[in-house]
Amino acid sequence: PRPRPTLRVRPLTCTESRRGDQQVVHSLGDGAVHVSAARHDATFGFSAVFDAGASQEAVFEGSGMRQLVELAMDGFSCTVFAFGQTGSGKTYTLMGPLGQQSDTQPASPALLGLMQRSFTCLLEQSRSRASDLALSASYLEIYNEQVRDLLSPGPPCTLPLRWSKSRGFYVENQLSVEFESLEAIVSLLLQGSQRRRTSAHALNRHSSRSHALLTIHVRSRAVSAHPAPGQGWGAQGSARGACPSKQGTLCFVDLAGSERVKDTGSSGELSVEANSINRSLLALGHCISLLAKPRGKRTHIPYRDSKLTRLLARSLGGSGITLMVACISPSSRCLSETLSTLHYASRARRVTTRP
Ligand code: ADP
Ligand code: MG
Repeated sequence: PRPRPTLRVRPLTCTESRRGDQQVVHSLGDGAVHVSAARHDATFGFSAVFDAGASQEAVFEGSGMRQLVELAMDGFSCTVFAFGQTGSGKTYTLMGPLGQQSDTQPASPALLGLMQRSFTCLLEQSRSRASDLALSASYLEIYNEQVRDLLSPGPPCTLPLRWSKSRGFYVENQLSVEFESLEAIVSLLLQGSQRRRTSAHALNRHSSRSHALLTIHVRSRAVSAHPAPGQGWGAQGSARGACPSKQGTLCFVDLAGSERVKDTGSSGELSVEANSINRSLLALGHCISLLAKPRGKRTHIPYRDSKLTRLLARSLGGSGITLMVACISPSSRCLSETLSTLHYASRARRVTTRP
């Protein structure tokens, strides 16, 4: 199926309304959204549009996220990614208001994002299905074209990204942590995000300067009457006896903000950051637009152009199912970034994959 491009327009923030920003984005219903400002007047179409009034639950139910969770449980590679400029609501959509959450102080249930809702759905489903399921999570960030593990303790270490014929692109030595409860996976999510945020203070707004990928691995196998003794859900887990085994993945990608180099400052560290972000977002956009061509006319897809596209190759290419959530601010001050996000999203609309 096509990736389903979904749009979320966040409400004006207090600061934006206080300074009297105009609202230039209007939802027209039926997946259409209209942008009107002094010299711009354009309408874009999406599978679904969520405007300022939409609850977190409405986004989960209306975006197709629940079906994506179910497909991951059936063994497919599923990816949801949130993109848009910094401050457009990517993290809010995926995790809820993160600043107010900690291990001891969880967010109000109504504000939880797509991730926590998906975890709940995953665990409920796994309890109700007859087969054995093993769930594990890995959490990575790509910062300045380096892949780092957000789950391993200590300072973030860089991991090599490799390719093999059987596995495709994979990250060597990435930590994968098993979990069985909602508390456990939410705590992994918060710890990893904290790690991402901790470096933010040292490295200047780092949090929005990296791409973060949380992947849930779902390994399932029909319950066997004689489980092989001494064999846990170890490496690959598939070559065991005659038990059919499937492995699905559910990956949540919080992309770095898409602002242009000139807007983010142009010297030293910041420009290195902005350039690597742009490079990977451009590479992603490029792969997406090539994938959007009819099959017969397709040329080679340059997944190797960035770490991000290598890691997303499986979900973007042949066998994956992708949900894209474009996030925008309704404010007139964000107009040019909003238009670029909308154009980026409408290119993705045409990609077709065959899971
Ligand atoms: P990003 O991750 O894209 O940089 P955030 O998710 O951090 O942006 O959102 C920026 C600010 O806007 C945060 O304070 C967040 O709580 C708020 N916000 C974003 N989306 C919404 C929404 N749908 N409803 C209410 N507040 C929102
Ligand atoms: Mg963010």
